[in-house]
Amino acid sequence: MSQSNEVNPQRIVVVGNGMVGHHFVEQLAEKSLSGEVAVSVLSAEPRLAYDRVHLSEYFTGKTADDLALTDEQQYQQWQVDYRTNAKVVDIDRQAKQVTTETGEVFPYDKLVLATGSYPFVPPIPGNDQAHCLVYRTIEDLEAIQASAKESKVGVVIGGGLLGLEAANALKQLGLETHVVEFAPQLMAVQVDVTGGRVLKEKIEDLGVSVHTQKATQNIAPGESCRYQLQFADGEVLETDMVLFSAGIRPSDQLAKSFDLEMGERGGIVVDNQCRTSDENIYAIGECALWNNFIFGLVAPGYSMAKVAAQDMLGEQASFTGADMSTKLKLMGVDVGSIGDAHAKTPGALSYVYENQAEGIYKKMVVSNDKTKLIGAVLVGDNSDYDTLLQYALNGLDLPEMPESLILPMATETPALGADALPDSATICSCHNVTKGDVVSAVQSGNTDLSDVKSCTKASTGCGGCAALLKNIVDSELLNLGMEVKKDICEHFAYSRQELFDIVRVEEIKSFDELLAKHGKGLGCDVCKPTVGSILASVWNDYILEKAHQPLQDTNDTYLANMQKDGTYSVVPRVAGGEITPDKLIVLGEVAKKYNLYTKITGGQRVDLFGARKEELPEIWRELVDAGFETGHAYGKSVRTVKSCVGSTWCRYGVQDSVSMAIFIENRYKGLRAPHKLKFAVSGCTRECAEAQSKDIGIIATENGWNLYVCGNGGMKPRHADLFATDLDDETLIKYIDRVLMFYIKTGDRLQRTSVWMENMEGGLDYLKQVVVEDSLGLNDELETQMAHIVSTYQCEWKTTIEDPEALKRFKPFVNSDQSDSNIQFVEERGQIRPATEEEKIPVKVEMA
Ligand SMILES: Cc1cc2nc3c(=O)[nH]c(=O)nc-3n(C[C@H](O)[C@H](O)[C@H](O)COP(=O)(O)OP(=O)(O)OC[C@H]3O[C@@H](n4cnc5c(N)ncnc54)[C@H](O)[C@@H]3O)c2cc1C
Ligand code: SF4
Ligand code: SF4
Repeated sequence: MSQSNEVNPQRIVVVGNGMVGHHFVEQLAEKSLSGEVAVSVLSAEPRLAYDRVHLSEYFTGKTADDLALTDEQQYQQWQVDYRTNAKVVDIDRQAKQVTTETGEVFPYDKLVLATGSYPFVPPIPGNDQAHCLVYRTIEDLEAIQASAKESKVGVVIGGGLLGLEAANALKQLGLETHVVEFAPQLMAVQVDVTGGRVLKEKIEDLGVSVHTQKATQNIAPGESCRYQLQFADGEVLETDMVLFSAGIRPSDQLAKSFDLEMGERGGIVVDNQCRTSDENIYAIGECALWNNFIFGLVAPGYSMAKVAAQDMLGEQASFTGADMSTKLKLMGVDVGSIGDAHAKTPGALSYVYENQAEGIYKKMVVSNDKTKLIGAVLVGDNSDYDTLLQYALNGLDLPEMPESLILPMATETPALGADALPDSATICSCHNVTKGDVVSAVQSGNTDLSDVKSCTKASTGCGGCAALLKNIVDSELLNLGMEVKKDICEHFAYSRQELFDIVRVEEIKSFDELLAKHGKGLGCDVCKPTVGSILASVWNDYILEKAHQPLQDTNDTYLANMQKDGTYSVVPRVAGGEITPDKLIVLGEVAKKYNLYTKITGGQRVDLFGARKEELPEIWRELVDAGFETGHAYGKSVRTVKSCVGSTWCRYGVQDSVSMAIFIENRYKGLRAPHKLKFAVSGCTRECAEAQSKDIGIIATENGWNLYVCGNGGMKPRHADLFATDLDDETLIKYIDRVLMFYIKTGDRLQRTSVWMENMEGGLDYLKQVVVEDSLGLNDELETQMAHIVSTYQCEWKTTIEDPEALKRFKPFVNSDQSDSNIQFVEERGQIRPATEEEKIPVKVEMA
């Protein structure tokens, strides 16, 4: 099919059209079109290359066409000759030609073996019966689907990365699912022992039974099921189907038969140019053994494909190994593994964070001098993965306290934005794309994220670098003085503000409805909480309603702030900081009864620390009975209104700051916003309540109130702007309603009012025009919206303790009523505090 005009184009034959073989063809497409090379591709499978990495999506509705990486038209257009169902069975190295099963002969100048690997099936008697299957090709998945229709129970033999993916598939097909693993832990290659334990617990919570340290000796006829697995320890497990996922072996039979140099345990030996022992034959991908190592991931295969193509064309190129870091979501459980996950480097030190209550485990492995990250393990929470990977890949210096990179609530975590990375930083390890490549793509006119993706290929592999890529593209667009698209993520081509308007105008009440009408895909960690916050700001529904639950982060999910030891804090609302002695006594009694640590907060209320998740409903029942309400310390919402005693007690006071503070706190309590909101009211210009460091600050004057907006204490303090002076009560409230609603409508995700103001074109003057002069004609809408929020307020804790369904989530473990015995306290200054690791008494957590 190749129609070259050249007299003698180099004849290149590629055996295998998997992901790597296809990537090789892509490298030569231009040369093929121009006639410099004549490429023939021989594939044993009935179709051209498809995305094996996302193979499991076949079970969630993707078709073979959706997974295809190319099609016949594309190969024809490139003038690449191809055959499907064409297994190569013979190589004549002297005559330089290969022969397929059907007898077709293809002469070559250069031969490329890209034959990949096949699933290893352990030599267990009975392994070749019907319903004993593997998980590698689309045809395998079709067979699994057919078998599942006649089965109730399925077992996956192998608890590695692919085994867990296969187990997920069985579960999705509705089978009772078991994973049987020979080793003492799951995913022994990628995660350490504790990570394996946490992963096992999480997977069992999801209803998959995990059996470790089990050597299967026989697959015999079953009693209650089709088969019975018989283990070396005498135990048995009944199952209707068996899926082998016990590792892969290189497809190297061809090379072996024709005397190419092989590794002791298989694999075609290649040098740094991916040449085999025959200089005219290359091997790339999972069949190639480089430096005694076979790479079981696609990214190294892609690098090999590039190197082999360049070498064949006479260009300088070397394969120098590859990063094996992985970030996965297995059955919804985040797992990340970077570099030296097992801390095998001599002198390596580890930082470990474990939260047994939530099933989160994080470990950083650092160099002996604590300056470089050399490895990491993450289970249950991958949010730190991208940052950690950049530190590891680029040898960046760690911050002074390296643990800040993995500890929760470490608000000072040094963010690794685009500017912190050197041009040589690898952004996409699947396609080996650096920050410099992305920057030059933007500079040469690719201003759209999707254009940058298709031109650099970044983020088109596993997709793990999507957030960082967007960050770099946006930053470069800004550098070039160009407009940055405000799409919140790839699932919604809208800014937060546009989504807010859509939700309100179309009266959309749930994430699923919004996604179906205006989004695509399934949603992600960015759009879900953003939409959750918008829905709450517009409709003010109970946030633990079933449809809203998946949108909340941990603090909202349990209506409490999680602390470093996995316990929670309880913060009832104390409007304006005014509290009766009786209520103070109730707080003291509850604290004593549940042995909670008490502390006065900066917002003039009492924080009760150390509550276990399962204690929260009982504690709140007692508080609600005594007239307390939730203080929303966990939400992106109004926190406190701090006040001084004002004219009632203070001899300088000119207005009743306490009454105003209480009124305001009760008006805006429960209001959800892009970020938390803090208020304060001072009774005179001496400013004892520090109102000028708050989002909304009010200072009494002889004639009324001065209103300050968009101040901030915290990490990046900002002095509030004086917005209006000498306001009467009614106008003051009107202005605050409008400012707050305008912020909620137009603020970005997680943007405090201070940053919102800094970024607002026209700044304070513009805000005054909108709010005071109604320049956008929005004020009626803003006030109506606020009136709705005020009139639909409910105390979330009161609603929760009255709802048996909502209370179920407060069990200590999903599958057990036992308390988490890893939470331990010691006494300090007459109260409890979390025990340090050294102080803890070792305990064993029994899972039901
Ligand atoms: C379910 C699953 C999930 C995965 N998830 C990930 C992941 O998250 N991240 C990641 O990096 N990797 C993942 N992988 C691994 C990744 O898919 C492989 O690394 C990659 O596909 C290897 O590509 P390859 O071209 O070397 O081999 P293959 O994809 O195996 O392709 C080899 C091709 O050669 C053909 N062939 C073999 N012998 C002959 C012959 N004699 N004649 C003609 N054709 C022949 C085979 O039929 C096959 O089509 C996953 C794999 C699976 C199965
Ligand atoms: S300043 Fe805030 S985030 Fe930092 S330790 Fe104190 S409470 Fe925690
Ligand atoms: S701000 Fe003024 S009124 Fe309030 S306590 Fe201070 S001095 Fe008194």
